[in-house]
Amino acid sequence: MQPFTVKILGCGSALPTQKHYASSQVVELRGKTFMIDCGEGTQVQLRRAHVHFNKIAAVFISHLHGDHCFGLLGMISTLGMLGRTAPLHVYAPAEYELLFTMQLDMFCNRMDYNVVFHGVDTTVSDTIYDDRSLTVTTVPLNHRTNCCGFVFREKPSLPHIRRDMTDFYGIPQCYLNNIKNGADWTLPDGTVVPNIRLTAPADKPRAYAYCSDTKYIPTLHEHLKGVDMLYHEATYCEEDIKRAALYYHSTARQAAQVAKDAGAGKLILGHFSARYNNEEVLLKEACDVFPNTFLASEMKFFDV
Ligand SMILES: [Zn+2]
Ligand SMILES: [Zn+2]
Repeated sequence: MQPFTVKILGCGSALPTQKHYASSQVVELRGKTFMIDCGEGTQVQLRRAHVHFNKIAAVFISHLHGDHCFGLLGMISTLGMLGRTAPLHVYAPAEYELLFTMQLDMFCNRMDYNVVFHGVDTTVSDTIYDDRSLTVTTVPLNHRTNCCGFVFREKPSLPHIRRDMTDFYGIPQCYLNNIKNGADWTLPDGTVVPNIRLTAPADKPRAYAYCSDTKYIPTLHEHLKGVDMLYHEATYCEEDIKRAALYYHSTARQAAQVAKDAGAGKLILGHFSARYNNEEVLLKEACDVFPNTFLASEMKFFDV
């Protein structure tokens, strides 16, 4: 199975702390690299995580709060200095386009690569990215400004060749691709060996969902059914549930409820408020509802 990895670059919330960087993470699948959110400090964190800047194919911005996007322009400028030639695709709330274009004109006007802006309607669930390996679908969230989450869904892969069987029947190397694509094999005496005896079922396609920032949405799980891994903001603990609602954020327990209702494989908590010195409290509150929960932290890598 090919790695499907999420690298946490930053999982703090709006106020800077010594403990956390602003929101950003990198998703790697089948040799492709994507970024979700790009808060201040992301470039430094990319260096620390040994992610090659130029490998990033697209950046997905959840919403236009600084802790999720103030690092974007700096990174785009750096990519220019690093001699990038491949286009960079930026998916962000549609209302950013005018300002973003002006910023590019002012600060990034002599680069050898194109930045392609894709305006996202955060109020609907829509597939905004589609390639051979995966799709990215938006999930409307409920925040103080237009905001959406993203679900990265791997596309089904081909079945595995059973080497023991193909060797047994002496099937030549050059024919294995046909077997992978469903062909049977015919023996010299005319007997047909069905494909099912030559292959093992393909790996189940995996899915990763990112939901930050948002007030608790009781129906959110409907968009997240069966995801293998969910990153959900957990800005507050249960004691501050009123504050969470007031500022359109969630508690750790609410994040866990979403994971439980979605039937997620595991839950990663992030977007921690600067007010908690000990995030174990958040972890405990979430684990009471959904045991397979982990705290995000900078430079932690998770397999989907
Ligand atoms: Zn935020
Ligand atoms: Zn926000």
